[in-house]
Amino acid sequence: MNSVVPLIQPLRHAGRRWVHEALESLAQEAARSADTHLLKLNFPGFHGIDFYFKDEASHPSGSLKHRLARSLYLYALCNGRLGPDQTVVDASSGSTAISEAWFARLLGLRFIAVMPACTAPGKIRDVQVLGGEVDLVDDPAQVHARAAEHAARGACHLDQFGLAERATDWRGNNNIAESIIGQLARERSPEPHWIVCGAGTGGTSATIGRYLRYRRLHTRLCIADPAGSGFIRGWQSSDRAAVASQPTLIEGIGRPRVEPGFVFEVVDQAIGVPDEASIAGAWLLGELFGHRYGGSSGTNFVACLNLAATMRAEGQRGSIVSLLCDRGERYAETLFDPHWLTAHGIDRSRCDASLRHSIETGCAPMPRAPAG
Ligand SMILES: *Cc1c(COP(=O)(O)O)cnc(C)c1O
Repeated sequence: MNSVVPLIQPLRHAGRRWVHEALESLAQEAARSADTHLLKLNFPGFHGIDFYFKDEASHPSGSLKHRLARSLYLYALCNGRLGPDQTVVDASSGSTAISEAWFARLLGLRFIAVMPACTAPGKIRDVQVLGGEVDLVDDPAQVHARAAEHAARGACHLDQFGLAERATDWRGNNNIAESIIGQLARERSPEPHWIVCGAGTGGTSATIGRYLRYRRLHTRLCIADPAGSGFIRGWQSSDRAAVASQPTLIEGIGRPRVEPGFVFEVVDQAIGVPDEASIAGAWLLGELFGHRYGGSSGTNFVACLNLAATMRAEGQRGSIVSLLCDRGERYAETLFDPHWLTAHGIDRSRCDASLRHSIETGCAPMPRAPAG
């Protein structure tokens, strides 16, 4: 008798069943979730220019990384890289880790976040509250290597920096760009002049830039990032080997290097914002909306005012859209603590005055941004 080798191993079969259940859990979560709000602001100095801010802090896990985490889990599951009882790991300065921990809990998986030891304490707590484990690394440059060590021991590496741009479906599937353009449909300027976002993994900017082309819109994409960041320097010189000229206090953006997910080709302008201005921007946003958002939202806001000042000077009207990336509570012990600011040499009063002057008069809030 010939012995027949079973083509489907029973263990694999059980794994496939679990994958289907996990994908169903993600689909159910998506069905239970509402879209994030697009909040509108107008300023006396910018007559005829409408500002919109997509409130990504209102996701259940508190930041725009909720979208990315869902996409990364989907990508891992559909590529057969994630099975039952497998540990999940990623390197993250915080927001991604919180959202990945949130989804790990949903799927019943163990999750380890590799984080720089200097990460805001509030973010570390948020990961732990969701049941995630935190592996702190003293040298921020070593987080990728540490995540790779966990992967070598069998963990599934979600790899936000390597896969963000690939894992997000930019054509549809409720991506952030499709959502923004849909929400603007009844506005007086439904095709924005500018969309402004930061560059952490580069996933958000790649998705928005691709979608604008896909939909044949004239909207231009501007990256707002800390002055001297890897993205700003790399984009200006079209050099993927560029590195940051200085570190930044703004978490989530301002990467030290050009990450694999940065798609320079879809970016029309890049504005480098000094940390002091970003922080003043975050405080002012807190006042304008009645609750606080994080530092990268402040970076976006300052860049929006710069672009609006140019539009105004050129006699243009229209709309500018940007993002509120995460909740301000995460920074209570850092950006929103006056003692912490003093200890880090930040005097936000000067920038605060210049931002207030800008929204009152329509002039640029800081020295002209580099041309693009
Ligand atoms: C990740 C992140 C960004 C940048 O988004 P990417 O899609 O990763 O480029 C901005 N702000 C915060 C708070 C983030 O966590």
